[in-house]
Amino acid sequence: MSDDNYDVVVLGGGSGGYACALRAQQLGLKVVVVEKDKLGGTCLHWGCIPTKALLHAGEVADHVRDGGAVGVKASLEGIDMSAVNSYKDGVVTRLFKGLQGLFSAAKIEIVEGEGRLVAADTVEVGGRRLTGKNIVLATGSYARTLPGLELGGRVMTSQQAISLTDVPGRAVIIGGSVIGVEFASVWRSFGAEVTIIEALPRLVPAEEAVLSKNLERAFSKRKITFKTGTKFESVEQSDSGVTVTLEGGDTLEADVLLVAVGRGPQSEGMGFEEQGVTLDRGWVPTDERLRTNVDGIFAVGDLVPGLQLAHRGFAHGIFVAEEIAGLEPMPIVDSGIPRVTYCNPELASVGLTEAEAKERYDSVETYEYNLGGNGKSQILQTGGLVKLVREKDGPIVGVHMIGDRMGEQIGEATLTVNWEAFPDDVAALLHSHPTQNESLGEASLALAGKPLHSHA
Ligand SMILES: Cc1cc2nc3c(=O)[nH]c(=O)nc-3n(C[C@H](O)[C@H](O)[C@H](O)COP(=O)(O)OP(=O)(O)OC[C@H]3O[C@@H](n4cnc5c(N)ncnc54)[C@H](O)[C@@H]3O)c2cc1C
Repeated sequence: MSDDNYDVVVLGGGSGGYACALRAQQLGLKVVVVEKDKLGGTCLHWGCIPTKALLHAGEVADHVRDGGAVGVKASLEGIDMSAVNSYKDGVVTRLFKGLQGLFSAAKIEIVEGEGRLVAADTVEVGGRRLTGKNIVLATGSYARTLPGLELGGRVMTSQQAISLTDVPGRAVIIGGSVIGVEFASVWRSFGAEVTIIEALPRLVPAEEAVLSKNLERAFSKRKITFKTGTKFESVEQSDSGVTVTLEGGDTLEADVLLVAVGRGPQSEGMGFEEQGVTLDRGWVPTDERLRTNVDGIFAVGDLVPGLQLAHRGFAHGIFVAEEIAGLEPMPIVDSGIPRVTYCNPELASVGLTEAEAKERYDSVETYEYNLGGNGKSQILQTGGLVKLVREKDGPIVGVHMIGDRMGEQIGEATLTVNWEAFPDDVAALLHSHPTQNESLGEASLALAGKPLHSHA
């Protein structure tokens, strides 16, 4: 067994781990990444990128189907899933090659294999012991299921659902959060009949309530069925389909059942607890500097309780590399992290919901700008809204948006909330006409008491 010494040993090469390694190398640290599968992790191979490629194909299908509404005669002949999959896989492959290129240009060592923490400063992999002054745990998350709900065959998680070779005729989705509504959207665009089962009272329950209401209205229009406040009870599968039984006894027939009930921490059997790292139901809690309870061991990304988003992982990774290099970076605060859900219509939000703001501040003001007054949204034939939440006479603390393509507006919203901008500050900066970006300017004008294309 050989011993190798590094400044940083990163366990897991997903968004959190690879970002940490790239930044550590830039800062002159000797770094190694241990990865059991593919550099890029969930986001690149099974998450963000493939799902967004599928959603884009779905958007194109919708445009073809709806071309007549803008005078373009077209008819949708069908969805060729093998061509959709090669388009999607092509995107993933190009990005994967790019990432591998970055690593080889930076001469960062990648050790392939399943790593295990065997001492507080050592990861063992395939007979090698990699010793680091610092260890970064970045092993990510896995798709959860429900007790008694066995995965396999026609019962699947997003991991299998991204590579279906046929469009399901009928699909049932358990879970109406981000992953559930994204798959509902894409399968509906491809022509499937979709039913979402959500135990909580509304779709996307973590979002501002008005976004849920708007999404539910838009999904109803798209003939996506959803049953909120409804619990799954059991499923049976045969060669031809699945029968899903709901609490109360109702049953649904479908070709596939997608289980989208959240993601759990990937930490079992990796030696974390044996080396003294405190776990909380498998998660690795950290302080705001992403330090675990063991000196020299950090954790990043989905493994750390909080938002499960790729850009949070990147930010965590960069933070830890800079922390190790002594740059004293600013902590990453979850409430300042932007969130986009890429269904049709898109949802985008950052900062506090109205309810959260009311818990934090004595007095709160809000404004809802309807995209009906926004020229570009009219051109795109999308409805939706922008809701701003501010501390009374204070800065904007939350931005919540829904509408086709509104995810692209998240950048300004992120700057607004994190720079603690006042509505007057945002209103004073010009927004190009006609863009959907104007809706942020209009909402800020209205909240500053000087509405232009809206009512105060
Ligand atoms: C369907 C889906 C869609 C998503 N869409 C989005 C989106 O649009 N935007 C967004 O921001 N986020 C999205 N996410 C979430 C995003 O993918 C994750 O937040 C992100 O991948 C987390 O990065 P990570 O580095 O913490 O973990 P991961 O990306 O899961 O990486 C962990 C890596 O560690 C490796 N590993 C684990 N254990 C070991 C071990 N013992 N030894 C060696 N290697 C190991 C794994 O193989 C993996 O490569 C989506 C997720 C899914 C499932």
